[in-house]
Amino acid sequence: MKVYVFRAKRRGITRLVVGGLHGREGRVTRPILKEFILEGGPRRGCMVVVPSLCLKKRYISTLKSRYFEVEEGKKLLRLISRFKPDVYVEVHCYAKKAYKSLTSPSRLVKRGVPPFIELENGLLIGSVSPHLLAKRMFKLGLAIEIPCRGDGAKSELLKLLRVIRDEDTVNGVLATLRSLYPKQIELASKLFAEYVERLRAEQS
Ligand SMILES: [Zn+2]
Repeated sequence: MKVYVFRAKRRGITRLVVGGLHGREGRVTRPILKEFILEGGPRRGCMVVVPSLCLKKRYISTLKSRYFEVEEGKKLLRLISRFKPDVYVEVHCYAKKAYKSLTSPSRLVKRGVPPFIELENGLLIGSVSPHLLAKRMFKLGLAIEIPCRGDGAKSELLKLLRVIRDEDTVNGVLATLRSLYPKQIELASKLFAEYVERLRAEQS
């Protein structure tokens, strides 16, 4: 696992982008995130990019608490504790056949997390695992899914990551995403609010 750290002279938010969280998806996220790294870091604050947390591991869903007990899950928690990101982004890849279940409206009931929303060309945005969210380790957490096959929605993913790198505040990131994908972000925010509400109800 390689960790690339960019620190600008001027103060600002910290972003942590982690690709390839389990299974073999790191093989897909690594080349794209490496290309992103070549563009350089933010003007303000800090940006940490891990192109692949792992390359060849057994697939354990991040929705399962067991994920955070195996090596890659522990590494992820250590990275988050070490860098204390304001914005945390995890980049996964999905097989074509998984698209339907990832975006299914019944995902919240079935899997305990909201459905992913398609931003464009197969690039999906969703919420992170409840196990991570419960730890309150970041202000904004995004789970991204790109297709494992084809070009992995590379240009769409790079566009999204540039927003996260170039905006200087968490609200700035959200506002720019809203202006680029108004309908999708409105829906994703609504789903996220329902998700948080559900988690709160479970905890109390
Ligand atoms: Zn994944």
